This record gives sequence, structure tokens and C-alpha cells, in this order.
Amino acid sequence: MAGQLLEIICSQCGADTFVRREPRYEGFSKVGENCVCVACGHVYENENDVPFKKKQQVSVFDADDVPVKIEIFKDNERHRNCRYCKHYLVNPFTQRCGLHDKPVAATDYCDEFELKQTE
Ligand SMILES: [Zn+2]
Repeated sequence: MAGQLLEIICSQCGADTFVRREPRYEGFSKVGENCVCVACGHVYENENDVPFKKKQQVSVFDADDVPVKIEIFKDNERHRNCRYCKHYLVNPFTQRCGLHDKPVAATDYCDEFELKQTE
């Protein structure tokens, strides 16, 4: 474990930084390890006092994953766009609404939207 750097938000200097583990000696015998802030040198004698950053990071990654799924399943309004309508016709030159016989954009919104069946 010696030399391993662990991410912390230092409770002493407030820096987004690391602690370094250093052996703690009493006389000539090693009695444990101190965690030392590399930014300000503050010594955490008890590892339970070290403000590790690990937990915060994990929750950030979870938050990134979840909203994407929620957006896909809950955002029904988006599917009323012409792009998803069965009257929406695409050819190399234009995008048209077959119902209203006029040019449309894929992102147009229509009251007479009918979902295109896709399997
Ligand atoms: Zn510090």
C-alpha cells in the first residue's frame, strides 16, 4: 500500500488532491500508516478521517448512465416529429409530408401525426 495515491478533498486546505500513505513509527518500530495530504502536508492519523473522493466519483458515473435511459423512454413528445410519422416521405431532393403534400423538416411537429410502424 505504501506510495499509493488516493484522491481526496483535503479537509485542511480544501484542495482537490491526493493523500500519500506514510509509515508511522514509534521509536524504530512501525505502528501504522499516516495519510498525508500532498498539497498541504496535513497528516490524517486515522484513515476514517480521510475525506476520500472515491464515493463521489462513483455516484457521478451512475448519474451519467441513468438520465440517458430515462430520456429515451420518457420523451414521447419527440416522437411526434415528422421524422417518425407515416406520412413523412424522403427522397434525395426533399422531405415531404404525404398527408399535407408540402415540404417538411424531420423535426417539424404536426397535429395530425401518425406514428410510422417500425418493426
Ligand atoms: Zn491539504
